[in-house]
Amino acid sequence: MASMDMQQKLSRNDLSHFERKLRERLNVLRSAVSEKLSHAESYAQIAGQVHDVEDESLADLLADVSLADISSEQEEARDVDAALKRLLTSSFGSCTDCGEPIGRDRLDAYPTAKRCLSCQRSHERKRFAPPPAKL
Ligand SMILES: [Zn+2]
Repeated sequence: MASMDMQQKLSRNDLSHFERKLRERLNVLRSAVSEKLSHAESYAQIAGQVHDVEDESLADLLADVSLADISSEQEEARDVDAALKRLLTSSFGSCTDCGEPIGRDRLDAYPTAKRCLSCQRSHERKRFAPPPAKL
């Protein structure tokens, strides 16, 4: 097995630590979502499935729900789902923009982080900056 010998490379233990954290987060989201859906008549059936669906399918299940109440949970479920997929492909912990390690501290605070701090900052600058004037 080739060793990348990358600084701050996450160990197998680190990865399972983050996987556990992400799945715990999904469980919290499940409870919040099924609670909210069960109050909405038209989504009662989905509310019943929320606890049975695989972690990886929660975001998909919720994709069709158009309920303003759960939009933040939907978004987070998508982020957690994407982070779990990065765990499976070993790209977890590396910045999706520059490929550098995201850093353990940042991942501890935001296990769903997909960018390193400096890429995230420039991403947000772009996102919130006024769109470039079209000619
Ligand atoms: Zn980066």
